[in-house]
Amino acid sequence: MVIFPLMKIIILLGAPGSGKGTIAGRLSAGGGACRHISSGDLLRDAVKRQTAAGAEADGYMKRGELVPDELVARMISDLLAGAAGDCTLLLDGFPRTVAQAQMLDAAVAAGGAGLDMAILLDVPEEILTDRIAGRRVCPACGAGYHVASIPPKAEGVCDVCGAALVVRKDDNPETVRNRLAVYRVQTAPLIDFYEARGLLRRVDGAREAGLVADDLRRLLA
Ligand code: AMP
Repeated sequence: MVIFPLMKIIILLGAPGSGKGTIAGRLSAGGGACRHISSGDLLRDAVKRQTAAGAEADGYMKRGELVPDELVARMISDLLAGAAGDCTLLLDGFPRTVAQAQMLDAAVAAGGAGLDMAILLDVPEEILTDRIAGRRVCPACGAGYHVASIPPKAEGVCDVCGAALVVRKDDNPETVRNRLAVYRVQTAPLIDFYEARGLLRRVDGAREAGLVADDLRRLLA
């Protein structure tokens, strides 16, 4: 994995439903200086295109488990290798284990760069389950909605491309319970990992998305 020294690298941490994708989408909208890299979107795309990586990842994702570290690291590394050097990278969903964080550290160090910060979107668990239950996504362009807090202009239809919105396959209650448990055990340790290095910033992610995005813009300024 080669990372260009001019890149700013921001890690978005937070449980499923904490709003990482929504907030990163807002910050990168309009092709500005921020580039949103979502490991979940990359994996869903690989599953859709039926690549070898997608076939390997599919079962883990359906069960709400993490796919193997090496597979995700390879996908992220391919993507970073083609990224321009003068942008801010918002990493959404990666790293998700301490092993992945160590792989990222090694890659960043090899490129002569550093991580800028890890931003935790802090959201209480009862709000997470509520948000996920109302979440809708566009299968064509990836835009995200919520039936109550971020509704599309026409019910069930994507504002951006007009496709019919769907519920993500892994947003059913049983898989969500598993994803939250996996987060607590495998991903939450990253909070201490980055705090110990002075890189962690906490943002109250339970508020309206526009306010959360404004906080992040201030942090990134
Ligand atoms: P997300 O869209 O970030 O909620 O991710 C959806 C699913 O993709 C997760 O439940 C995992 O199965 C898989 N996934 C996404 N990112 C990673 C990662 N960094 N490591 C392992 N699995 C991942």
